[in-house]
Amino acid sequence: MEKSFDALIVGAGFGGMYMLHRLRGMGFSARVLEAGAGVGGTWYWNRYPGARCDVESVQYSYQFSPELEQDWEWSERYATQPEILRYANHVCDRFDLWRDIQFETRVVRADFDESATLWRIETDTEETFVARFVVTAVGCLSSPNTPKIPGLADFAGSTYHTGYWPHEGVDFTGRTVGVIGTGSSAIQSIPIMAKQAKHLTVFQRTANYTVPAHNAPLDEAYVARVKASYREMRARARTKPAGIDFVINPASAVETPEQERLREFEARWAYGGLGFMAAFSDLLLNDESNKTAQDFVKAKIREIVEDPATAEMLTPKNIIGCKRLCVDTGYWETFNRPNVTLVDIADRPIERITATGLETKDGTYAFDCLVLATGFDAMTGALLKMDIRGRGGVTLREKWGEGPKSYLGLTVVGFPNLFMITGPGSPSVLTNMLPTIEQHVDFIADCLGAMRAKGATLIEPMEEAQDAWVGEVGKSASITLRSTCSSWYVGANIPGKPRVFMPYIGGFPSYIEHCKAVVAEDYRGFALS
Ligand code: FAD
Ligand code: NAP
Repeated sequence: MEKSFDALIVGAGFGGMYMLHRLRGMGFSARVLEAGAGVGGTWYWNRYPGARCDVESVQYSYQFSPELEQDWEWSERYATQPEILRYANHVCDRFDLWRDIQFETRVVRADFDESATLWRIETDTEETFVARFVVTAVGCLSSPNTPKIPGLADFAGSTYHTGYWPHEGVDFTGRTVGVIGTGSSAIQSIPIMAKQAKHLTVFQRTANYTVPAHNAPLDEAYVARVKASYREMRARARTKPAGIDFVINPASAVETPEQERLREFEARWAYGGLGFMAAFSDLLLNDESNKTAQDFVKAKIREIVEDPATAEMLTPKNIIGCKRLCVDTGYWETFNRPNVTLVDIADRPIERITATGLETKDGTYAFDCLVLATGFDAMTGALLKMDIRGRGGVTLREKWGEGPKSYLGLTVVGFPNLFMITGPGSPSVLTNMLPTIEQHVDFIADCLGAMRAKGATLIEPMEEAQDAWVGEVGKSASITLRSTCSSWYVGANIPGKPRVFMPYIGGFPSYIEHCKAVVAEDYRGFALS
């Protein structure tokens, strides 16, 4: 028996939860289908030691409900994964979302039925759903990447992926541990695993930049000040490219005298967090300016890491901020511990995993536990795992064979009535994701409201509008240094994935303006019928 709804929402992270709240509030019938057994998405799955946000919690939180903002009390500058998960559960309680979320239900296929103008959705629970609209809220960083290293299945110890961590936690006390990867997840977890483990071996393919978090409990006076001025802070954040309320120094790094430049970097380093990259306005526009920030961080590494050879190995060679900047608590210091070994696998890659550890070209390494901190098939992974078929049975995988193309990161030609929250072509992963998720949800909800008011039942982007947006995404990527390295932003971490800079880097304010203009011109670029 098919179950029928106005809208089906796939995923119960922050995107799916707010989408449900909005659609229900407008009187649409909606159901969320979620593969996991709870809400929170990222914060449900990523339970590795040290997992926490790196956008400050007072900003990395919903803003649609002033009452929720006043109710909820963040305890630390950067909340831990358990606290963020409690927040997600609190939101579900507060807005009574549970009754319309179906857990342990993975969408495996969605077909657009052109004659009925309906989507038919199949799940791994053998149920079929039909809906006029489908909204994917499947996440940009939700499809864990397990590299195809020969012998992985032969490992006799325990293997963990940071993005799929056991709910009961893992105690590494007295164990030897090997960790592959030095991205954000590794950089957060390595200092904690090192404190627990008998020995920790870090296998590093690309040295990465990280800046200190300087996390701390939030004091009452600060929380009271934030609560009294949430509206102003949120409004300021909307004017910043990353949707984060930090002070952006308009000066150019190269045009600033050296002593003054160092003072600015020192102040940012001492404050901590991603605002380091806002020290100067041209750090991601100009090689020479970027190099000043690189040199500053490299000097910090040499200052903190006692063994010069290890410091050299840890020193990144690429552009700072090109791969996602990491934020840490005691990462560089961890390599001064006697129980931590760093192995550079850039030129001597892992050849195979064995029953007892792994082999590179010039060594064998033994450990009891293997941690894969190897990231995600970002932005398109979770979308393409579903077999989505639009007009004429054409699959999204075929459509995106040469890389993702979308109109505003929200919709795709040939896939009517299908909306993506934070799809490729949206600012998403380059921003504080909660406000950008809310902006997408509001756009979609308002659009469905406008369609209802007009009596329209079908919406689809037009080819010219999509081409123009893809052009805009490409043009904005070409003027920043961010598109120049082998990062997950360009799909470089997944063998065979087309190399396309996937997010829109023109900034959140400019994106909002584009969306507003589209709505003001009666959904310019869309065909409604
Ligand atoms: P997700 O939270 O990824 O939720 C997607 C949900 O969809 C998941 O629950 C998944 O199970 C479900 N799903 C996927 N496919 C299917 C399917 N086929 N059928 C059914 N269900 C499906 N962003 C920031 O702005 N600041 C941060 O500090 C920050 N920290 C992060 C830390 C980590 C460890 C990671 C991995 C990401 C972080 N991010 C951060 C990005 C984070 O993903 C977003 O901020 C946000 O949580 C995404 O919410 P979402 O609802 O879009 O997706
Ligand atoms: P990631 O940034 O993609 O890092 C993956 C790491 O694994 C990289 O060091 C990569 O090396 C390495 N790797 C991948 N495949 C490998 C292989 N076959 N052999 C050897 N090494 C391999 O993934 P992540 O750390 O999970 O972070 C992903 C994103 O999630 C972040 O960029 C961020 O947006 C978000 N996140 C945020 C936080 C936070 O602080 N709040 C925490 C975690 C994640 P290469 O660099 O050489 O590819």
